[in-house]
Order: sequence, then C-alpha cells, then structure tokens
Amino acid sequence: MDDLAVRCVGIRKHFGTLCAVDGVSLALPRGHILALLGPSGCGKTTILRLLAGLEDPEAGAIEIGGRLVAGPGVYVPPERRRVGMVFQDYALFPHLTVADNVGYGLGRGEARGTRVGEMLDLVGLAGLGGRLPHELSGGQRQRVALARALAPRPEIVLLDEPFSNLDAALRGRLRREVRDILRAAGASAVFVTHDQEEALSLADEVALLLDGRIEQVAPPETLYLRPATRAAAAFLGEANWLPGHVAGGAVHCALGALPSPCPAPGEVDIMLRPESVALTPDERAPHRIVEREYLGREALVTVRLASGDLVRSRLLPQAPAAVGDRVRVEVSGPLVVYPAAPANGSRPAPADRPAVACGAGRAV
Ligand code: ATP
Repeated sequence: MDDLAVRCVGIRKHFGTLCAVDGVSLALPRGHILALLGPSGCGKTTILRLLAGLEDPEAGAIEIGGRLVAGPGVYVPPERRRVGMVFQDYALFPHLTVADNVGYGLGRGEARGTRVGEMLDLVGLAGLGGRLPHELSGGQRQRVALARALAPRPEIVLLDEPFSNLDAALRGRLRREVRDILRAAGASAVFVTHDQEEALSLADEVALLLDGRIEQVAPPETLYLRPATRAAAAFLGEANWLPGHVAGGAVHCALGALPSPCPAPGEVDIMLRPESVALTPDERAPHRIVEREYLGREALVTVRLASGDLVRSRLLPQAPAAVGDRVRVEVSGPLVVYPAAPANGSRPAPADRPAVACGAGRAV
C-alpha cells in the first residue's frame, strides 16, 4: 500500500468558462511538506479548497490518507476529511481563549486538556492558554492557528498563505518555526504561496503551477537548478539566457566551449543562474560590467559580454566590481540546456526536456 497523505489524479475545476484547475495530479508522501507555488490566479487556492472539500472537482479523484474523498459519485464533506486548515488571517474565534481555540475540534473530556497542553507546548505557547486572541502578537496567533489545526491529528494540514500578514523579519522566523513544528508533529502539509523563497525554504517538494496546470513538481533544489521548462526557469528567480549550439560534445556560446550535458548536436538555449556566473577582475578581458545593483546582502552585477549578450552575476556586496570594470567570466555552477525556442516563440513540446551540466568552468 502507498504511504501517501494525499493523492490527486487529473482534478479539474471551472468557474464559468474559466478553467482554474486543469487536470492536476499530485502525490504527497506522509510526513512531507508540499508547496503549491505560482503567480496570482494560477489556481493554488482552488486546489487547496478542492483538497479541503470546500469545492468539488468536475473530473478526477482525490484521496486523503488512502481514502477516496472526491471522485465520480463520491463527495466527503470537509468535516469528515480529517484535514486541518490554517488561513492567512488566522481565523481564530475572538471570544474564545487560546486553549479553547486549540481544543475546538476535540471532543469533551479529560484527554482534551492533555492534548491542548501538548499542542501549546509544541508551538511554544505553554502558559498562554488563558489569553484571548487579541492579547497575542500576529506570530503567536498564527501558532495558535497551527496548534488548532494539528490538535485533532489530521491526515493533512492545509495552509493558505500562512505568513502573508506578517512583516518580513517575523515571516522568516515563523516559517522556520512552522517547519520545525510540522516535522515534530510528523504532520503532512500542503501550503499555498506565491513567495518563491518561502516555497524553496519550507517544502520538501514544490509544485509549480502556471495557468491551472502543473509545470513541474520537484524538490526545491531541482526546481531551481534544473527547471524542466523555460517557463519554470523564468518564474523561479533570475535566469541568464544565452544562445548556443552543441557540437563535438561541447556547447559553444558567448562564454566559449563548455562541456555539454546534451549529446544531440543542434541549436540550444543555455540557462545559467546568476550564482553560476563567476567574475574575476582582469584589465585584458573583453567583457565589461555595465550595471551594479546593491541589494544589501548581495549585489547583482550585469556584464556585457564581447558578443553583446548580457549576463547577471550574484556577488557578495563587498566584492570589487564597479561599473566599467573589465572581467573574466566563468561558469561555476550548473548550466541547463534546452532545445532552441521555435522562431514563433511558442513553448517547446513537453518531450523537449532540458539537460544539465555542472561547473562547466572555463573562463573567457
Ligand atoms: P492568488 O495567489 O491571487 O490567491 P491563486 O493562484 O490562489 O491566486 P485561485 O484563487 O485558485 O488562484 O483562482 C484561480 C482562478 O479562478 C482565478 O482566475 C480566480 O479569479 C478564479 N476563481 C477562484 N475562485 C472563484 C470563484 N469562486 N468564482 C469565480 N472565479 C473564481
């Protein structure tokens, strides 16, 4: 038997003529955290609502903890799906104490008090059970919401943009705390975010959604360093693109001949993350820095190559790199090679999978 917390097969949902979720399939092993990541309107929240039972799919099937909860002729209501929900506005009952909020989904009796105590310990709020929600900070309220969702031992916790109401510093801290709490509880979770850093740092697997479809599901590093499609590469952070052609086992481009991950000769597009572009000051080099953007913990530097192509490199802010400096350019991390985009700009066929090479490493 699969040990899956959630399995969706081909789920579809329209609102009028708009197809919000278009044949999505997902499988989440128990104890894992999955992020649904994508731009606004791509269908993330609708998938979460389909899992919760707040929407019913027109096609496809959903299993939670190995039990069919939605499918042809089957619809299990939300309260019988064994899901816990955490919303961005916390949705705590304002007139109930923290302890009563946490115990809300539990039956009466002695065990209830014990479980509430365990949950308050787990989320670091022991001793605050008697307070009302308005007597807590935003971060504390979100931890109460998480404790309430976990208390009835759900099969899965669903979190909808759980950190978006918090300021940047608290967001970073709370997402680490939430990850640790979910791990300590051995919980399975699906959370929705449009924040890439949040998805990459919190999840075991990230499902990137574009236009109601899954573009790629992969562990964070794979998604970032080996995006399966140009669209995935372009959505996830900065990407440098260079035209090239593969011949004799190398990919030839404005950065010279690099070891090719793709054996088939032909025209390709090369994608390099800015972290994979290393710069070394050299007065005799043919490339020149044309822009330097200071971002606090890093600087993004744009180099015009001798070919006229532009590439961006991510440097430490103290790195010596000023506009006008000449630099050698070296590929110091993975490069991804895609079959060249058709002239009409349409997407390559799904079979056109990229190939990846590591640390190509020849400075030009
Ligand atoms: P966001 O990040 O902005 O919350 P999302 O990726 O979560 O977006 P959804 O809320 O799932 O996107 O919405 C997907 C599409 O379906 C959007 O175009 C949205 O306008 C539409 N939609 C969602 N709910 C409804 C509804 N109840 N009635 C009509 N259209 C809806």
